[in-house]
Amino acid sequence: MTTLNSNTIRTRFAPSPTGYLHLGGARTALYSWAYAKRHAKDGAFILRIEDTDVERSTPAAVQAILDGMAWLGLSADEGPFYQMQHMPRYRAVIADMLAAGTAYHCYSSAAQVEAMRETARAKGDKPKYDGTWRPDVGKVLPQPPQGVRPVVRFKNPASGVVSWDDIVKGNITIANAELDDFIIARALTDEAAQAGETVGVPTYNFCVVVDDWDMRITHVLRGDDHVNNTPRQINVLQALGATLPKYGHLPMILGPDGEKLSKRHGAVSVVQYDALGYLPQALLNYLARLGWSHGDTELLTMDELVSWFDGSNLSKSAAQWDPKKLNWVNAQYIKQVPVQQLLAWLHTHRAMQATPQLEAAIGLMRDRAETLVQLADLVGVFSTAPAMDDALIAQHVTPNAAVLASFAAALTDLPEWDKASIASTIANTLAVHGLKMPQLAIPVRVAVFGTTQTPGVDAMLAVLGKAQTLLRLHNAR
Ligand code: GLU
Repeated sequence: MTTLNSNTIRTRFAPSPTGYLHLGGARTALYSWAYAKRHAKDGAFILRIEDTDVERSTPAAVQAILDGMAWLGLSADEGPFYQMQHMPRYRAVIADMLAAGTAYHCYSSAAQVEAMRETARAKGDKPKYDGTWRPDVGKVLPQPPQGVRPVVRFKNPASGVVSWDDIVKGNITIANAELDDFIIARALTDEAAQAGETVGVPTYNFCVVVDDWDMRITHVLRGDDHVNNTPRQINVLQALGATLPKYGHLPMILGPDGEKLSKRHGAVSVVQYDALGYLPQALLNYLARLGWSHGDTELLTMDELVSWFDGSNLSKSAAQWDPKKLNWVNAQYIKQVPVQQLLAWLHTHRAMQATPQLEAAIGLMRDRAETLVQLADLVGVFSTAPAMDDALIAQHVTPNAAVLASFAAALTDLPEWDKASIASTIANTLAVHGLKMPQLAIPVRVAVFGTTQTPGVDAMLAVLGKAQTLLRLHNAR
C-alpha cells in the first residue's frame, strides 16, 4: 500500500462505485474534507473506492465519482485507493484472526442458517446464526462435513454492549446479544482454491474495518444507513487491537415531498448540476448548509466552512432538499464569481465564444439569472435575433412605428456608439415626440430583443452594437 502521512486527523470518503456521485455522497465527502482541512497540515482527507461488490461496481461509476469530486473541487490528500487492490491484506488479517481465535470456520449451509433464524423467530427471538460452529471454552464442535468449504465468521463478544459517542446522534449503545457472528469471508471458490488462496472473498463490513485501521482513520463521517454496521465494525476493530475512530452518522437527505431523494426530484448526480447551470461553489455552499449550520449564515466560502466545521451543529434530523433555496444560492454566486468562470461555462455548454460583447452581456444580465442556463438565454438575445411574438409587435411596435423610425434615424447619425450617446439620443427622441421613457423603451425592447423587460435600453443597445440595433429596428417595423 502507498505510504501514508502521519497526520493526526484523518478522514475518508468511501463511496461504492455502483452509480453516480449522488448528493448525499457529495455532502458526506464535503464534511469529511472540511473536517480534515480544518486541521490544515495535521489533517488528511482520503478517497477510498469500495469496489468489492464486483457485480455492481463499474469503471464508469468510478469515473463518475472522480469527475464529481473534481467538479466540486474536493481533492483528496491521499488516494484514490481501491479496495480490490487490498484483497491480499484482508485475507492475511482473516488468517491472523483464525489463528488468534477471534474468527472461526463455519460449515453451516445457507439453508441451515435460514432454519436457525426461523427457529429463533418462532421463539420470538432476534433471528440469528445459532453459533453451532462457534468455538467456546469447553465446547465440543461437530465434525466438519465432507466436501463443504466453510465461511469465516467473526467471533462477536457474547455479552456486554458496544457503545460509541456519535458525533451527530450522541450516545448509541447496542447489546452484543443483538449481534450475529457475522460472516467476514465467503466460502472459497474452486478457482480461488486452485489459485492457492486459503481464505475466500472478504465481506463488505470487514474490508471497511481493515482499511479504516490501516489508513489510521480518526473520524468516520457517513450516512446513517451505516449505523447498523458500526457496532459490528467496532467489535472487529477491538478484536484487532485497533484504536477506534470517532463516528458520525449523517441523516439522509429527503426530497421536497419528504420522500427519499430520487430521480423523481430532478437531478441526483452531482455532475448533472453542471449541465443544469449550477456553479460548483453554489452546490457546495448549499450542501454545507443541508444538515449543518453556523448561526443563520446562508452564504459562506469554503474557507469559512473549513474554519467553522468542528463537528458541532450537525443536524440530527433528516435534511430536506429545497430546489428554490438552491436556486437562490446559485443566483448569489452567479452575481459574484469571476466572469471567466461564467464565460467558461457558456463556452463548454453553449459553444459561445468569449468575446468582449459576451463579457459585456454577462455584466448586464448576471444579476437576473438563477442558473447558467437562464444566463445563456439572457445573453443569447445579443447573438441571436429574437423570434417575434406577433401579439407583442401588434401591441407595442406597430402603433409606434413612426417614433421607432425617428429613433432609428437619430441613431444612424451617431458618430460614437456608446451608452452615453445612445442615452442622449433616447432623451432627444422623447423630447421631440413629447413621450415618457416607457413609451419609447418598451417598443424598442420588443422590436430589438423580443421582450418588454430588459436592463436599461441604452446599455442593452450599446452592447448589441450599431449594425444589429438598426437591422432589428428595421426588421421589426
Ligand atoms: N461504501 C459505503 C457507501 O458507499 C460507505 C462506507 C463507509 O463510509 O463506511 O455507502
